[in-house]
Amino acid sequence: MTQQADLVVIGGGPGGYEAAIRAAQLGLSVICIERRVHKGKPSLGGTCLNVGCIPSKALLDSSHKYHDLKAGYDNHGISTGEVKLDLAAMLARKDKVVDQLTGGIAQLLKGNGITWLQGSGKLLAGKQVEFTPLEGEVQILQAKHVILASGSEPVQIPVAKLVDDVVVDSTGALEFQIVPKRLGVIGAGVIGLELGSVWARLGSEVIVLEAVDQFLPIADRAIAKETQKILTKQGLDIRLGARVTGTQVANGQVTVSYTDANGEHSEVFDKLIVAVGRRPVTAGLLSSDSGVSLDERGFVAVDDQCRASVPGVFAIGDLVRGQMLAHKAMEEGVMAAEIMAGHHAQFNYDLIISVIYTHPEVAWVGMTEERAKAEGFDVKTGQFAFAVNGRALASDDNQGFVKFVADAKTDRLLGMHVIGPAAGDIIHQGLIALEFGASVEDLQLMCFAHPTLSEVVHEAALAVDGRAIHAIQRKRK
Ligand code: FAD
Ligand code: AMP
Repeated sequence: MTQQADLVVIGGGPGGYEAAIRAAQLGLSVICIERRVHKGKPSLGGTCLNVGCIPSKALLDSSHKYHDLKAGYDNHGISTGEVKLDLAAMLARKDKVVDQLTGGIAQLLKGNGITWLQGSGKLLAGKQVEFTPLEGEVQILQAKHVILASGSEPVQIPVAKLVDDVVVDSTGALEFQIVPKRLGVIGAGVIGLELGSVWARLGSEVIVLEAVDQFLPIADRAIAKETQKILTKQGLDIRLGARVTGTQVANGQVTVSYTDANGEHSEVFDKLIVAVGRRPVTAGLLSSDSGVSLDERGFVAVDDQCRASVPGVFAIGDLVRGQMLAHKAMEEGVMAAEIMAGHHAQFNYDLIISVIYTHPEVAWVGMTEERAKAEGFDVKTGQFAFAVNGRALASDDNQGFVKFVADAKTDRLLGMHVIGPAAGDIIHQGLIALEFGASVEDLQLMCFAHPTLSEVVHEAALAVDGRAIHAIQRKRK
């Protein structure tokens, strides 16, 4: 007998599982199909929980602790003994965090009455879904609505084919069993910088090869410049305009050839991480008569509310246009579930936070100064450093600054940019302010607690009009 459901979700990553839960909360019967097997066990949570956001942050935190301890706390009056690295234990802790969270998602689905089918889903015509279990026979499901949430996978480039544990993608870079002496990273995007930082803190000599001439082209220029300066000081050798043209593996090492403005070069590494972007997973997802169209870049084509080209079929997350971020996938999933349950829902694509979890963290929301100018705004900006912030100094973590971009004509905030301690959390103040259409003056008039890192946010807002208190400013108002 054909199994029926109000909603079939294909893919149990952050987009898919949040969509499934929201739809179940709204009274729909939901089936979620997920085929991932992680370390021998079927696993929900997608890229994010298994091989993305969470394991990378676990290793970023562990490696940061190791690096800090190794540098010593003498200035705090604390002396430690010899600091030793047990990489196997560090990796095991990461796996435990992943297990706890993926197990939690399974509980959440169960608790919400959602059926998790372990295997692959394929959309057929007429909102039927072919389900191929990990073990057993193919079944056909009939759905009233379908959400496609199959996510993304690392881009592979012919000049750097993956080889065992020597030339790896982001997933392999979470599993090195020894700290490579020399580590190459292709791509200075968010993933390359985060994973490069992990291994640099654990002792690798890291060279990052980036084809584009500009560092972090998507970030505000002031933030990108400061990030490059700080990461370079930390030991990441970031080579811009360096296009990898070939790799050769021999005797457990890899020789990487690249070209830059000065000609051809090569470097020998113990390991190489290929972090050149991700692409949507569409292979085997759609039958030829499913009616769902792809766009020119291979993503499932959707409107602003994630409707695909077949009525009742939605697509979300990394599978569709826009930034490949877990929180974007989650909000799209919730939006799609609400729309199919008959509610009005939309989501502000102009205000998606970006975070790079280096140390210090880098985060932004809204427009960069460059984009605001390009869009014709009469721009004013304000910037304030963590260097003189009491809380940042007290905790010995005072690099970076907060920058606001605002419309000089109306005083409305256009963007917030942070490099500094807890930037990934502090940035939410900008999200809320921008979402509510705040002016710079609104922030200036608020009373921020002392001593906090957030006082830098207040001072940066004051600095827009030359009014920062803990700085000697020339423009006065
Ligand atoms: P996915 O998480 O990719 O989930 C899709 C799931 O669908 C997969 O588990 C897959 O097995 C399954 N699937 C695919 N096809 C089928 C099928 N036919 N049938 C059944 N199942 C199928 N984002 C952030 O916001 N913050 C971060 O800090 C961050 N760090 C990252 C670090 C790394 C190293 C990586 C690789 C990514 C990181 N990301 C981060 C990106 C984030 O992981 C993705 O944006 C997010 O997981 C996308 O969610 P999704 O639900 O669209 O897809
Ligand atoms: P992202 O898409 O943000 O993950 O970043 C991936 C980065 O990899 C981009 O900045 C690309 O320019 C870079 N990249 C892609 N191919 C190459 C290559 N052959 N050599 C060096 N860098 C590359």
